[in-house]
Amino acid sequence: MKYIIIGIIFLITLLSNTIYMLYAPGTGEQANQTENIFTYRTPDNEIWTNKDRMSLERMRNHYINGSDSIIDSLEAENQQVTPLLQLEPDVQNMLIASKVKSPYFLILNSLAILTGFSLICILALKRKHSGHSEALFSGKTKTDILRVETLENVQSNKPLNGDQILNKSKEIICEILQIINKHSDNNIIPRQDALDSFANEQVSKIKTSSTLEDLLTVEENINKIIPKHFESTKNLVNTKFNELRAMLNELAEDFGSITEDNTNFSGQIKDSMSHIENAIELDEIKEIRKKITQETSSMRNVIAKKQEKDAIIIDSLTYKVKTMKVELASAKEEVMIDGLTQIYNRKAFDRKINDFFKKESKMKSQFTLVMIDIDYFKKVNDEYGHTVGDEILKKIARTVKDTFRLNDFVARYGGEEFSVLIDRIDSHYIMDVCERLRIAIESINFKVHSERIPTSASIGIAFSRESDTPNTLISRSDKALYLAKESGRNTIKSEADLSETELEKASI
Ligand code: GH3
Ligand code: MG
Ligand code: MG
Repeated sequence: MKYIIIGIIFLITLLSNTIYMLYAPGTGEQANQTENIFTYRTPDNEIWTNKDRMSLERMRNHYINGSDSIIDSLEAENQQVTPLLQLEPDVQNMLIASKVKSPYFLILNSLAILTGFSLICILALKRKHSGHSEALFSGKTKTDILRVETLENVQSNKPLNGDQILNKSKEIICEILQIINKHSDNNIIPRQDALDSFANEQVSKIKTSSTLEDLLTVEENINKIIPKHFESTKNLVNTKFNELRAMLNELAEDFGSITEDNTNFSGQIKDSMSHIENAIELDEIKEIRKKITQETSSMRNVIAKKQEKDAIIIDSLTYKVKTMKVELASAKEEVMIDGLTQIYNRKAFDRKINDFFKKESKMKSQFTLVMIDIDYFKKVNDEYGHTVGDEILKKIARTVKDTFRLNDFVARYGGEEFSVLIDRIDSHYIMDVCERLRIAIESINFKVHSERIPTSASIGIAFSRESDTPNTLISRSDKALYLAKESGRNTIKSEADLSETELEKASI
């Protein structure tokens, strides 16, 4: 390339200098002035001279036009057009010397041509270099540079070959996919139909593109339309969807407390939610919203009424439950209390002693059973009647109850017999409290017609053992009580007073 340019410069210089040598003024078609004599070289290589320029010019024109007659007439007018050879020899020499070409012109001409070409080449190279540099320093990719170069092709509107179109199509399709990925949002389903038709349109354009310019137009279209489409659709749908979601949440809270009548409505809410999630058309969302608003207002009324009704029913039920609880507690108490003496009855005693035995084994040896039997009570009944007997029974029951602690379980075991469960086993305390009881019963001053009726009771005591069952414990205390009776009554006996034989019998 470099050598071609040098060759061209050389040829142009050579050519221009030759032209100068051959056709420079004074040697060619124009009249020239030397030493106040104008000269003209004819195509026949004849040199004419004249002191009057105008005359010489007219002569030259006529000669060129071939009007010899006019020349003759001019000569006749004595215009003094004289051929060079007819002039004096010294004038001839002077004119010939004037025809020598200047060597300075040749040198300057060559230099000017060389400089001009050099400048043009430098500028061209500089422009090409800066074009690439700009692309590189502006962070453009290879594809961008390629695109700049390709655009130059486009400007020249060169048709592309099949491979180029295919490659460019691939690039565009990749860009479409990237744009779709970038702008897609899982929460929002864009208008699929609209997007499809747009995509189809672009695809058909790509297929029919014959020039790169067409393809770039398609690409520009896609870059412009798709992000805009996604952005506007996404924003609008997002806003509406959030509004609806907030409204539905509010409704769900309102209906949270109601269970029965709202089953259908819950279903409707769920339907609406799923419908909204699939909704694309904004008009459709508006429709759903309108529908929900209507449903909401009607349901609010229904629920308000139902809540009022429910509140009344709940109040009434609460009152009934409270009453029933009180009645039940009192009924239970009645069942466990002996009607005559107002202390626990046998049923209560049985339950209680079983409870004691249900406790952990360690606890089984931790309580005491005291059995109390009124002495000669049959005789009291016989002598003073059952009514008096009942009163004495009541009095003795009260005395037993008052003698033991509140925690001790005092019950009417049966007839004129009482039982006490005490959750401790220290015999000193037990013997002491039983003695106090015996004295208290003995001290009752019960009079009928000023006659004091003597009262006394025999007491038997048994302490719980690991191996005990309710029956064995009761049996031992019974045996101790029988021993107390045998010992003369109005006395206290514990299992410690029982013989081995008696204890063995009691353990069966
Ligand atoms: P002891 O125990 O000292 O051997 O003689 P006792 O007379 O008390 O013995 P027994 O068990 O034979 O008699 C018990 C009597 O208690 C028989 C019954 O009439 C009387 N009795 C039982 N329950 C009641 C009652 O609720 N009211 C009255 N008034 N008497 C009752
Ligand atoms: Mg008895
Ligand atoms: Mg008795």
